[in-house]
Amino acid sequence: MKLIQNYVNGEYVSGTSAHRIDLFDPAIGRPYGQLIDSSIKDVNDAINSSKIAFPLWSSMKLNNRAKYLNAIADEIESRANEFSEIESMDTGKPISLANSLDIPRAISNFRFFAEYAKKFEYISNLNDEISKNEISRNPLGVVCCISPWNLPLYLFTWKIAPALITGNTVIAKPSEITPYTAYLLGEVCTKVGLPPGVLNIIQGRGSTTGDFIVKNEFIKAISFTGGSETGKTIYKNASNTFKKLSLEMGGKNPAIIFQDCDYNDTLDSITRSSFLNQGQICLCSSRLLIEESIYDRFKKDFCDRVSNLKIGDPMELDTQFGAISSEEHFTKINNYIKLAKDEGANILTGGIVERLNGRCADGWFIRPTVLEGLSNSSRLNQEEIFGPVVTLQSFNSESNAIKMANDTVYGLSATIWTKDNKKGKKISRKIDAGVIWVNCWLVRNLNTPFGGMKQSGLGREGGNDAIQFFTEQKNICLSTR
Ligand code: NAD
Repeated sequence: MKLIQNYVNGEYVSGTSAHRIDLFDPAIGRPYGQLIDSSIKDVNDAINSSKIAFPLWSSMKLNNRAKYLNAIADEIESRANEFSEIESMDTGKPISLANSLDIPRAISNFRFFAEYAKKFEYISNLNDEISKNEISRNPLGVVCCISPWNLPLYLFTWKIAPALITGNTVIAKPSEITPYTAYLLGEVCTKVGLPPGVLNIIQGRGSTTGDFIVKNEFIKAISFTGGSETGKTIYKNASNTFKKLSLEMGGKNPAIIFQDCDYNDTLDSITRSSFLNQGQICLCSSRLLIEESIYDRFKKDFCDRVSNLKIGDPMELDTQFGAISSEEHFTKINNYIKLAKDEGANILTGGIVERLNGRCADGWFIRPTVLEGLSNSSRLNQEEIFGPVVTLQSFNSESNAIKMANDTVYGLSATIWTKDNKKGKKISRKIDAGVIWVNCWLVRNLNTPFGGMKQSGLGREGGNDAIQFFTEQKNICLSTR
């Protein structure tokens, strides 16, 4: 059994806690290892190590910090197959997805911020008749990055890379459900000679280990991605020490499908946006709003495509749809399917557990599920399920579609499908969401701001926003009178 330890001060350590958390391979439903459930002392030791590392790291030339980030990217790339296999085993996602999305994106997160920081102005001058002002951007100190289980290394490194390039030292806590690739990142840091304490990776439960980090007075900022309820708890717990906060949270994302869409392309894209990673991406479409005139035709063709997705062993190259990442989440999704029936939904396809043969016979698989017949105010249409369950509703006017799209506490992303770009843009402007894709989904330019409105987010990640978040400005004013 694998023991996933902390990575502190450049070394793997088991810490002081006697508690361990079982780690599961969701495709086979059995444990593969255990995780250290870090104590408050373990957290404090890591924070001390990051405090000690801060003066050296923050005063290092930007170019040199960029070299470390690029070296980390190169090292992950040289081990990409191993990282992909482990990510797939830990999460249940198809290996083809880990190979094409998760691990390449983790690599490009480091490369992007290494390059991006070069064009960012750390010092600017603003002079007038009475003063000379030198405005500098400075690292915050020790900062914390907390990430969820669905895109483990992808989201972990999306936070760590900008935090490091700007000169902060980092306490990073991956999800206790999928910690393995974050653990391996420690090996990578040692290999490239990252100075000890610059990145400490702390393992453990959110409600204990995560909570100790959030409440610690030496942590200057928290970059969090996870559920909205956890975000609220972190918001409260961080307030006593006035930390900077970036909160990326849940979604209930609408897809608005017009009769003038590019029909086949929309069907393919919506199948992907609904069920990629078993629907466990915060940006997945979960409410499909379809123009009345094409509703019946689209419903039939969409369900045909969905029921043809290849469910299977995540390790097989042709698998398109893998396992649900944990037993708890598997139970939660099944309960939502039961609730849908109680709420009067018509299940068009899926709605049942998938039993595979062989190695994956005891894995946590649910067939991709499409429902109709529920009002927008039903729990199925209001609560984030974060799994392979989508609902269909029809609309008869643009204003009706916009009203339904906005009628939720979330505002993370939306997609609009029409060949009329002008209409697509006009409607996008009326949708309350941080990211709106017109005729595409999950297209990401890492320079663009990423984040949600309403209960989906506070602050933005990406490019300039990330650099701003992890730095603080100082103005030195000289009188010239
Ligand atoms: P979660 O909120 O349960 O956990 C996320 C992380 O927070 C984990 O590392 C967890 O250990 C930690 N945590 C939990 N309680 C904590 C506390 N009190 N203090 C400090 N840390 C704590 O979320 P999850 O189940 O891992 O992930 C699924 C959620 O993440 C979904 O709601 C999904 O929409 C959201 N998500 C959002 C984005 C985005 O970019 N907006 C991306 C991916 C996932």
